[in-house]
Amino acid sequence: MSDDEAETIPVGSSIHEVRTDTKTVVLTYDDGPEPDGTERVLEALREHGVTATFFVLMGRVRRFPRLFAEMADAGHEVGLHGVDHQRLTSIDPREVHHRTRDARSELEDRLGSEIRWFRPPYGLHSRDSWNAVDAAGLTTVLWTDALRDWWDRPTETHLEPVINAARPGTIMLAHDGFASHLDGVDDGRPPTLDRGRLTDLMVGVYREQGLSCCSLTEALDVGRPVTDVRLTP
Ligand SMILES: [Zn+2]
Repeated sequence: MSDDEAETIPVGSSIHEVRTDTKTVVLTYDDGPEPDGTERVLEALREHGVTATFFVLMGRVRRFPRLFAEMADAGHEVGLHGVDHQRLTSIDPREVHHRTRDARSELEDRLGSEIRWFRPPYGLHSRDSWNAVDAAGLTTVLWTDALRDWWDRPTETHLEPVINAARPGTIMLAHDGFASHLDGVDDGRPPTLDRGRLTDLMVGVYREQGLSCCSLTEALDVGRPVTDVRLTP
């Protein structure tokens, strides 16, 4: 997909899947960087030789710059998840625009390359927040399936969508961190699961089903975005 095509995504729409003839699945990780979680995920991805798209929180990038650099240096794609994890639907749209524009600029300065993708915290957008992000030059990306790895659950429960609903073009939501009061929210206690092990098992299950994993831009290089309007009233 070229940049010109990216600009044709309809107003209010988000990418939630990739239409592709290749047997690929897009891995996406939210809420990092986070010591331990991100480190384990990076190690698992390295062992499998696959890349992913990480939607990072700007406040965490500032707190853990070396971990962020490690992620970028490993060849993973970076998207923006927000300055912090507050719901955009509860923030003045002008503030959303300024925050997003400034965070994009700061991330691009750190990376030395362009940022294209944005994922709103909790996947929540109003029409106004969508417009504010669009005006900041970023395309919103949601997901097809989620690992639900924000809970402590048996590993086989986490892997259910991987085992039961795997298909080419899926955008899988996983997490390398857990948002906390430092990110402006209170979502309870973080799970104790091993995020590296979960990544290892997930990539392994996909591989058994003949599917390889990649970042969003890699998938869109040979595919087309599937979009839908998913806005909160
Ligand atoms: Zn998040």
